[in-house]
Amino acid sequence: MSVARILNAKGRAVITISEDDTLRVATRLLAQHRIGAVVIVEADGSVRGILSERDIVRALAEGGGGALDAAVSAHMTRRVVTCTADASLNQVMEIMTAGKFRHVPVTVDGRLDGMISIGDVVKYRLAQLEHESASLRQYIAS
Ligand code: AMP
Repeated sequence: MSVARILNAKGRAVITISEDDTLRVATRLLAQHRIGAVVIVEADGSVRGILSERDIVRALAEGGGGALDAAVSAHMTRRVVTCTADASLNQVMEIMTAGKFRHVPVTVDGRLDGMISIGDVVKYRLAQLEHESASLRQYIAS
């Protein structure tokens, strides 16, 4: 199972935000779209940063409610690990496990073109396992 196949099924839309926006705006976006991270992109479409709910929680823990007025740029992660559409589901799982994060932006020719979250990984891995076990049961029965 490739990332391209997952994106073909789920779509390529990614919720983005400006690094000059506030954490308050980011929090509303996360809640409104029921997602865990927003991506910050450069004018040329390349990934500049990622801000996840964990970054907001950390900012709140350190600064209290006033932290919601801080800029996204002050709390986003700048060294973003991305993958390309030809990556396999297993490779994405390894990237998430090694980096201890739950979101991997997908790029095509260096431009943002989708997002794989831990929810997608679990969903497609489960489907894969169910397919494998159904094939095995069929093989045993035949
Ligand atoms: P998450 O588990 O995705 O909520 O993110 C946990 C931490 O890792 C946060 O500080 C995020 O900004 C950061 N993070 C999330 N995704 C990535 C990624 N693909 N590359 C680098 N850092 C990330």
